Amino acid sequence: MEGEARERVDLTLQRRHLCVILAVFLCAAGLPLAAPPAAAAPGVPRVSDIRAWTNEIYTRVAIDTGDEVSWQSNILRADPKRSLPPRIFIDIRGAGIRDEILRKPVEVRNGLLRQVRAGRFDRDTVRVVIDLERESTFRVFALPGPFRIIVDIDGEGEIPVLPASPEAVSPPGPVAAAPSSEDPAPPSMTPPVSPPPPSAGSAVPPASPAIPPSVESPRADASRSFPARKHRVRVMIDPGHGGKDPGAIGPTGLKEKDVVLEIGRRIREKLSRSGEFDVRMTREEDVFIPLEERTAMANKGRADIFVSLHINASPNRRAKGFSTYVLSRGASNREDLELAARENGVPIRKLQGVKFIIDDMFTGARKNESLRLAKTVNDAVVRHVSTRFPEARSLGLKQAPFYVLVGARMTAVLVEASFISNVREESRLRDPSCLDGIADGVVEAVRYYGRNGILARSDY
Ligand SMILES: [Zn+2]
Repeated sequence: MEGEARERVDLTLQRRHLCVILAVFLCAAGLPLAAPPAAAAPGVPRVSDIRAWTNEIYTRVAIDTGDEVSWQSNILRADPKRSLPPRIFIDIRGAGIRDEILRKPVEVRNGLLRQVRAGRFDRDTVRVVIDLERESTFRVFALPGPFRIIVDIDGEGEIPVLPASPEAVSPPGPVAAAPSSEDPAPPSMTPPVSPPPPSAGSAVPPASPAIPPSVESPRADASRSFPARKHRVRVMIDPGHGGKDPGAIGPTGLKEKDVVLEIGRRIREKLSRSGEFDVRMTREEDVFIPLEERTAMANKGRADIFVSLHINASPNRRAKGFSTYVLSRGASNREDLELAARENGVPIRKLQGVKFIIDDMFTGARKNESLRLAKTVNDAVVRHVSTRFPEARSLGLKQAPFYVLVGARMTAVLVEASFISNVREESRLRDPSCLDGIADGVVEAVRYYGRNGILARSDY
């Protein structure tokens, strides 16, 4: 439940500036936030946890409030006279805050993020302050069920500047806040930092142009030149659901969470054999991991490819087939919208509120690569499975608003590997040779992409 999410205070140290003393300090700083929260007054939203995943170019901060709240965000430039670094603040209205969070800022200091702290701005407002080491672009959005505010901070200036459209500047929930020099949160205990470099925001390119939902042949792009890769291709495999969340359940009781974990393990084993790929998994056992954490794990680990594994389900027991998705604002039909709502763990009406966050984030810049990989994955999976199960069908490449893909900085796809609600397909999913076929298909597609150097993110 929420408690599991609250316990995840992930203070990841960047690799380049790792220092043992700092590591010990960070662990100590993180412990108080992992303590079980005291009971909140019923009906009053409360900041119950602040979670962070970070490296020197990327940070995601999640602020858990449980119930829906209104909030505002803004960034303040560094104030060298007051020894204040650049800082992002989030004002949360009508919410309380757990005392332990007030007392213990989350210290990081990794070249991008200095610390996250919180305080009571006034009687009705909690202010969360993110002290940066240097000026950076950022995006803030909220996810429902349970309500949490997500802050994505980009140290490379890759988050496009918001277009000046009414929809983008006035999304449901948050509103633009006037800059303020007031800073009520506990003062930093750290020494002043050097003045930051010129604003990264001013050098950020405009939002990437709309990309038509068409798929070119992967071969057509193989001749594009990219910088030489300095590391093995990193693949993050994300078996969906887990722990308290079984995912979809088949007519005879087969659980989606178990099937996708087994497929994920097979993919990792097969992909790792050659030594060409650095394969990681968001979960390796039956544990619950919030959706925003899965994306953060891939970003923090600088994955080149993110593959989220799921099994479809439908009230129509005859529904069948394989499909692979990329992120989009909406879905082309009711079934895909229902699927996204189910995978996101929210009612369909809640999907509307996050539409604005999707197109103008990292994801847009990666969409062409994601579309190509999704098509390749789906074709290869169906081809491999159908050698053993000729009735296997492809539903093709699709798009829908999956939260787990929001904010992904790499080529990212979500596989729906047949319907667990269909008796015949559920039976097939119990057959190891079917799971092998699915894994072989994903492996073939990933290998194709890795070897042809057509990944967008190949510069580090
Ligand atoms: Zn699923």
